[in-house]
This record gives sequence, structure tokens and C-alpha cells, in this order.
Amino acid sequence: MAKTPTLSSFRRVVVKVGSSLLVDSAAGGLKRAWLTSLAADIAALHGEKRDVLVVSSGAIALGRAVLGLPRGALKLEEAQAAAAVGQIALARAWAEALGAHKLTAGQVLVTLGDTEERRRYLNARSTVAKLLEWRSVPVINENDTVATSEIRYGDNDRLAARVATMMSADLLVLLSDVDGLYDKPPGEGSGAKLVPVVARISPEIEAMAGASGSELSRGGMVTKIEAGKIATTAGTHMVIASGHVPHPLQAIAEGAPCTWFLTPANPVTARKKWIAGSLEPRGALVIDAGAVRALRSGASLLPAGVIKVEGAFQRGDAVVVRGPDGAEIGRGLVAYDAADAEQIKGRSSADVMLILGYTGRTEIIHRDDLALGGE
Ligand code: GLU
Repeated sequence: MAKTPTLSSFRRVVVKVGSSLLVDSAAGGLKRAWLTSLAADIAALHGEKRDVLVVSSGAIALGRAVLGLPRGALKLEEAQAAAAVGQIALARAWAEALGAHKLTAGQVLVTLGDTEERRRYLNARSTVAKLLEWRSVPVINENDTVATSEIRYGDNDRLAARVATMMSADLLVLLSDVDGLYDKPPGEGSGAKLVPVVARISPEIEAMAGASGSELSRGGMVTKIEAGKIATTAGTHMVIASGHVPHPLQAIAEGAPCTWFLTPANPVTARKKWIAGSLEPRGALVIDAGAVRALRSGASLLPAGVIKVEGAFQRGDAVVVRGPDGAEIGRGLVAYDAADAEQIKGRSSADVMLILGYTGRTEIIHRDDLALGGE
């Protein structure tokens, strides 16, 4: 059996929290004591210099509780309006719980398009990256009040997996009301066994997932397996564990039952492979010898090192990077479109704002977005 990783071996962790953990549907309110214990676990990880992101469900469930809506299914506009009320309460609860550990929470509400459409994806990614650079904890949810059925994730399991891959996280923790994947539907006398490690999501694993789900959460095991596919193909490990215990992250670290979905790749390598192999280059940047040396020693490409701009690419497109002799050095995602790149080539980063009239990224290709030949 493959060895399970330990929590402390990860550098960037996304923790997804299901509605039923945060909201007590019977008593109609937030489970504050539990949230306090989770916030303490998050603070401990954060204190060990880890980046932590939270994907929190609960807007609709909490809104329903605050408004005192009767049990039963809500119509779409009711669910969206309930989310408007619940999201404020949710954000406040997170800000307070994290604030007690001197952590700043930053609320990020996204729709499907923000993670799928390239420009918006790049934008969302840089905003969240900035929050992490400031050592804040992004608290992310779907923008339920405005998302329409066509542009909706509908479940936070897949949203969390997309966020994890978007931010090149190396671990996604799904805290929910189940403690992992069982080899058959669990229940009294079923003899179902928890699967501790899934090395690869095979059709047999998918068959085990069945189609169950609790009343509050939309994501049953099926969406968790979908999330696992998104995460593990992009180089992010995933673990499903029960949140029905205080200090749920500490519990995982101490060996509580859970299911690990392992990825064969690491996120940076997976991303670079994708840049180098899967994208059609839309142009090229020819760079000088000094820039070639800088890139090979791990630096980003700055406008100053660019000699020539070829092609009609857009911001976010893949481009080929060539040395002064025309030989391909690598490929990367460019941070400016071709017209702007043409204007700032050879110029210092300080000049860029004066030339373009706006502050873009300092790098024309960030090193995380650059795959050098042979990497
Ligand atoms: N975004 C929804 C909410 O906050 C939750 C979706 C889910 O449970 O996965 O209510």
C-alpha cells in the first residue's frame, strides 16, 4: 500500500468546509465552538509558514437559519436570497474566528467563469496570490447570489479543487460529514471498509462512490471523486476526512480515519508540463543572452531582457521564448498582450507604468508560468 503523506509536509493547503459542519440545521445557527477549534488548527499550520486557503460552504444554510425559513427545498431565487443573508454572517464568523489568532481573512466570491475563462482566471489567481503574500487567509465561496445555473459550480467540492489547482496548492482537505471513501455503501451491518489510500482514481473507485449526500450539502461522494480527479491530475493531493470532530486538521495529523487521494505529479511540474505541452503558442519573445542566463538560474523574464516580439498574442497566451540566436529556450504564459509587449520590450520595469499608463506585472513571464526546455 502507498505511504500516506503527513499534513506538515505540505506548503500550500486548501481546506474545504461543508455546510453541515458549520451550520446546525436543528438549532438553527452557526457551530461556533467547532469553527473556533478549526481556526486554531488553521492558525497552527499558518504559523508553521504554510499558506492556508479556506473554501467555506454554508451561505445558503446559514441564511436559511438567520431568516428562520421552514425546512424543505428552496426555490432558486429563495436559495440565492438566503445566500445573500448567510454569506455576510459566514464571512463575519470566519473573520472573527481567524482574527482571534491574529489572522486576517479575505473574502473571495467566485463564479464558474472566474476559474474557467483565462483572463478572469489570471485575475482571480493574482488577487488570491496577493492575499497569501500578505499572509492573509482567503475565505472563498461561490458567488451564490448572482451565479445562474449555467455558470454555477453548485457544489464546493469541485470549486475547492479548481481553487487548489489554480493556486498550485499541494494539498486539498475536504472536511465533510463522511470520514472517507468506503468500498461499499456504509451503514449498520454492511461490512463496508474505509479505503485509506487511493493511488489512482479508477472505474472501480468511481463505482464505490455511489450517489449519497446529506441534506445540507450538495456534494455527495460523487462530486468528491470529481474533485479528486481535478486535483490529482494537476498535482494536488487530496484527503477526505470527517469534520464531525473538534480540531479536524489536528485529527488528520494524528491519524484519524480518512481517505488520501495521491497525485503522481507535483503542482509546479504539472503546471509546467501543461504550459510546455498542451498549449498552442501564439507568438514568441526573443530575449538577450543576459536574460537567457537569468532564466536558467531560476529568474522570471523581465521586459528589459526582451529584444523582439513576434505574433499577435493576448495576455495569458502561451508564447515561445527564444535566445538571441533564435533557438527555443522554453515556453511560458505571457503577462501582456503583443501590442503592450512591443512597447515595453527592452525597458526597465520602472518605465512600464509610464509607457502603458497602468501598472501591470513586473515580469513579462513569471517563473511559475515558464517551462524551460529540459524541465
Ligand atoms: N455555495 C453553497 C453555500 O455556501 C454551498 C455549496 C455546497 O454545499 O457545496 O451555501
